[in-house]
Amino acid sequence: MENEFADIKNEYETVIGLETHVELSTETKMFCGCKLSFGAQPNTYTCPICLGHPGSLPVINKKAIENAIKIALALNCNICENAVFHRKNYFYPDMPKNYQISQFDMPVGINGYIDVDMGSYVRKVRVTRVHVEEDTGKLIHIGSTGRISEADYSIVDFNRAGTPLIEIVTMPDIKSPDEAKQYMITLRNILLTLDVSDCSMEEGSIRSDANVSVKLISSDKLGTRTEIKNLNSFRFLQRGLEYEVDRHIDIIKSGGKVIQQTRHYDNKTQTTMVLREKEEAHDYRYFPDPDLVPMKIKEDWINKIKDTIPELPSAKEKRYKDFLGLSDYDSSFMANDFEISSYFEEVLKHHDNAKAACNWIMGDFSAFINKDGITLRQSKITPENLAGLIKMIDSKEINGKIAKLVFEEMYNTGKNPTDIILEKGLKQINDTEKLEKIIDEVILKNPDAVSQYKSGKSKAISYLVGQVMAKTHGKANPQIVNEIIIKKLS
Ligand code: ADP
Ligand code: MG
Ligand code: ZN
Repeated sequence: MENEFADIKNEYETVIGLETHVELSTETKMFCGCKLSFGAQPNTYTCPICLGHPGSLPVINKKAIENAIKIALALNCNICENAVFHRKNYFYPDMPKNYQISQFDMPVGINGYIDVDMGSYVRKVRVTRVHVEEDTGKLIHIGSTGRISEADYSIVDFNRAGTPLIEIVTMPDIKSPDEAKQYMITLRNILLTLDVSDCSMEEGSIRSDANVSVKLISSDKLGTRTEIKNLNSFRFLQRGLEYEVDRHIDIIKSGGKVIQQTRHYDNKTQTTMVLREKEEAHDYRYFPDPDLVPMKIKEDWINKIKDTIPELPSAKEKRYKDFLGLSDYDSSFMANDFEISSYFEEVLKHHDNAKAACNWIMGDFSAFINKDGITLRQSKITPENLAGLIKMIDSKEINGKIAKLVFEEMYNTGKNPTDIILEKGLKQINDTEKLEKIIDEVILKNPDAVSQYKSGKSKAISYLVGQVMAKTHGKANPQIVNEIIIKKLS
């Protein structure tokens, strides 16, 4: 019975598959001409089609299909030439037609994958399908908590009904909550690069349903899964999954059976609770929508779309490594966040010093924005001004110490570095004549350091340089000062 106390978790393996919904940022809705209108007065962007009036007929939004194909291609999928729209039948008050137009067995894209960089390894996550559907309206529950269970009544806003939605489904290839989080970060970065969605987490433009089960490492048989619905935060996704994995193992350990359920994650308690027992696909009575013509996605259209796909994050990372000479870690940091990579590249457009730009962004800049809880673009420093600062360091107009002061001022005021240096008189002193005068004074005042240096303690020189820097309020060019002192003392 030695094993009795062994950590039972070590015998189990986590299995996760994600279904991610992404709202496309097209001008108009999926099957009608209504504009997309997040945040508008409720029910002001609707028409007979997205309200499901009898007799109204849907028309496919070509731009939405184009973006779906773009996404499918970027996720290494095959495109189905004869993609079909089906009706998914069910009743819920946020859906006026009593069916949702979606895709079933012939989605736009199938059999793709995403490589998820975990730092020390890459997890290949296979993508089963990329399909197009329409979003539902939004129920607003009136009551103290805003949750349906405590509501006095609910009202409905159909502005969102009919918004083009892409669903991206993975195989159960994800092996930990951390990998799931990283998958979602990677996917979001690809989508932002493609410019097909604003991918706002707060507004729910990207949200995942997370399917999770555990199985014995020694077995190939998958365990029974539960599904956590509508996770629109990386942290919630990870925490919800961690909670579920522990819950599953506890149930199995105590001799019970996991029941297949749909669950909701509550961040207040950091637990999940049951929403409903899982419905089966056949409950939805899928059938091809007779109101829509079958699509014919031709090869030359696909090729045209292929040409519009910008450089993807993985290719960016490789280029930063191979052509800009950044380290593995730096390339990954610069490439795997759309906002960072676009900012970084804009800096380089103004001044071509990748290593310095990367160091500023990862160093002081990150420290400042993290402290304030903002992003690079939300800060007052424009890429052009950061480039300007780096340029001044490279041309030795200012030294590293002064640069840090200028940076802080740029961050606080949004002013450009040239103005700040002029205003504050921070220009570096490179004038040897001026420097020699100061150095002579320092040598006179510090006979101890001088004699230490002369007796072979070469380190004494940094003390002398330090004195000169102090006298010039950090403005002296330390390299030139160093050279002059050596010359004078030899
Ligand atoms: P459904 O039709 O019920 O939505 P799918 O077969 O489409 O089921 O799977 C939905 C998601 O659940 C996919 O991402 C898939 O990888 C994942 N999944 C399926 N079985 C398991 C399992 N045993 N454990 C974890 N995830 C699973
Ligand atoms: Mg599903
Ligand atoms: Zn409409």
